[in-house]
Amino acid sequence: MKVAKVYSLDDIRIEDAPAPGVGPGEALIRMKVCGLCTSDMIPWYVARKVPAVLGHEPVGVVVEVGRDAVGFQEGDRVFVHHHAPCFTCRLCRRGFFSLCQVWRASHLVPGGLAEFVKIPAHNLRYDTLRLPDGVSFEDGSLIEPLACSVKALRRARAQAGDIVLVIGLGVMGQLNALLARRCGAKTVIGADLVPYRLEKALSLGADAAVDVSKEDLTERMRELTGGLMADVVIVGPGSVDAMRSGLACVGQGGTVMLFTPSGPEERLEITPHDLYFNEVTLVTSYSCGPYDTREAMELIDQGVVSAEQLVTHRFPLEETAEGFRKAKEAGASLKTLIVMDET
Ligand SMILES: [Zn+2]
Ligand SMILES: [Zn+2]
Repeated sequence: MKVAKVYSLDDIRIEDAPAPGVGPGEALIRMKVCGLCTSDMIPWYVARKVPAVLGHEPVGVVVEVGRDAVGFQEGDRVFVHHHAPCFTCRLCRRGFFSLCQVWRASHLVPGGLAEFVKIPAHNLRYDTLRLPDGVSFEDGSLIEPLACSVKALRRARAQAGDIVLVIGLGVMGQLNALLARRCGAKTVIGADLVPYRLEKALSLGADAAVDVSKEDLTERMRELTGGLMADVVIVGPGSVDAMRSGLACVGQGGTVMLFTPSGPEERLEITPHDLYFNEVTLVTSYSCGPYDTREAMELIDQGVVSAEQLVTHRFPLEETAEGFRKAKEAGASLKTLIVMDET
């Protein structure tokens, strides 16, 4: 079978690899669609993984089921989460699935950017979801990214009546803005410097979009909120500048959500005095767990989020390198999908 193997972000090769064999409790899927994730574009993050077949937003059709595999059969249309927790360790019991050692060690074989993918028994059992009839393969490829938003909004405790600021309006920012509205936010404000992304946020229902290449975000937030600032700030970019900007825009009793990690060496200065007397919460959200993927699929089934809103580019597996190039340039684009098979 063909796989797209990433050696570096500028060196992605289409290679032949044997299709994985299926053992007890496992299943094989023929890939249909796999989204390219923003995290796959972060150089230091990718450098830790390569060479590898990346792709962790996969949907496909089950073509083979191993002995003792329960709950799935040939022909099932499925989303597969590349990580699944053990449900028994201390961190799982406390609800921190993405910190579970089993979750971290679990993975698909070889990865989503391939013609066929083996679902290990653990992933099949704990985080493989059959797609509802109304959810297309392209919609299904949004389950994993949307699940990351579901988790982040929950951890940020976004609630009805909130003023929510979303910094960075790539596909994750757009998902966060859509979900903030769904949580009952009274005012949703987006910030970015790409006109296409600002307009997209407005067309998807944001109340205001601030072009940070032209306007000072803190000043503009003060105007837009009558001095209240934001109850929840979701900082999309993994840059310390964006995080600093998020801290400057949060109001009293508010929460700053760091949605993306910075590099390991970077430092962010905070003023504990201000955090304390304004009761500001700083919180992070890493990836997503099995309850988040289920909720995300439900939201997609209800039409809250769809591929039609967010997918701007599609490439066949052979053109994965071009897909990465497009996703990396972060211009007039949102979601880039690799489409293995459109039927
Ligand atoms: Zn991802
Ligand atoms: Zn665990």
